[in-house]
Amino acid sequence: MISTVSNRPTLDKSLISIVLPVYNEAAVLHRLYQSITDVLTDVACRFEIIFVNDGSSDSSAEILDELAAECHSAKVLHFSRNFGHQAAVQAGLNYASGDAVIIMDSDMQDDPGVLGRFLEQWQLGYDVVYAVRFQRKERLWKRTLFFSFYRILNLVSDIQIPKDSGVFGLIDRSVCKQITAIIDRDRYFPGLRSWVGFRQIGIPVERHARHDDHPRVTLIQLFRLAKSAVFSFSAMPLMMFYGISAVSMLVFLGCCGFSLYHKLFTGLAVPGWTSITTIASFFGMLNALGIGILGEYVIRIYDQVRARPQYIVARQCNFTESAADADGGMLDWLADQRAVVEASAPSFDPVAAEIDSHRSTPLTKPR
Ligand code: UDP
Ligand code: MG
Repeated sequence: MISTVSNRPTLDKSLISIVLPVYNEAAVLHRLYQSITDVLTDVACRFEIIFVNDGSSDSSAEILDELAAECHSAKVLHFSRNFGHQAAVQAGLNYASGDAVIIMDSDMQDDPGVLGRFLEQWQLGYDVVYAVRFQRKERLWKRTLFFSFYRILNLVSDIQIPKDSGVFGLIDRSVCKQITAIIDRDRYFPGLRSWVGFRQIGIPVERHARHDDHPRVTLIQLFRLAKSAVFSFSAMPLMMFYGISAVSMLVFLGCCGFSLYHKLFTGLAVPGWTSITTIASFFGMLNALGIGILGEYVIRIYDQVRARPQYIVARQCNFTESAADADGGMLDWLADQRAVVEASAPSFDPVAAEIDSHRSTPLTKPR
């Protein structure tokens, strides 16, 4: 246990934000809202529940609009299209104004009953409280994939990322501020949450079954997310090529020695094409793999430089602040760059035009 942080507000004086990415979850939204509201009413704190409608094509949008019209604590961001789970999480964090922010999925896999335990740990002084999932209800092959992913990620990543924990958890406002300030385009939230540091604790949480049996994150999207996690937090795939090049060098020297020996001392002809083509194709394969891995980093650099917003908010309900951070923070980043350029070379300002072309209002966060 750690000592209580003096400047942390007590629960009755706190505003708690709940961030919920939603993609075609119409069947469960009322139940979800009710169960979260019940738990937070018991805790006796003020709260806002932010639904991020990630371009749903079912009736989620209408249901969320109704909820927002009925209850002021329900706030909704409607994306202009489907931008993906991580983008929805990021948008929710950008718009959250609570002293603590809780991120959870909206498919009833993350138990709202656990929120009280998160808040207890937060009150004790922890800045990050994340759920360590156990008893997952997914199929065996999927559980095996998740299990292996977390372990491989930890093996290769530059920082320790807790095993078996996804987005479900609480972050203090200070942590939220740091995470939203990170300008990475390719985002893996659990990795960023670990990267920022602060006082963190994991608590075991049972992972429930999905309300229906149809995950909205497809296998390809999961694979992309796994790549984002590895390539964002590890340079090991690139570094691996030092090892591969050392092995290649040894094989090369061995082949040369063997050929020269027979040429100079035995006069035997070097065996024909088979071995040569085998070795050539083997190294060809290694080259291709190397280029592929390089490509993974290059595409991320390209994505970052291209600086497209991570999401676009088409409309919002119940947010008092109309200043929408629909660019995902990139314009603020450009503004920072502008400040740096102005400080170092007042007469030269290459990003000013870029900023002005995007926005005419002062650069402020909606918090
Ligand atoms: N989700 C989203 N955008 C997407 C896919 C999913 O906002 O493109 C939401 C979805 O509604 C759910 C959460 O992200 O609340 C997790 O999705 P899912 O349950 O499919 O992921 P899994 O639990 O299988 O990892
Ligand atoms: Mg789920």
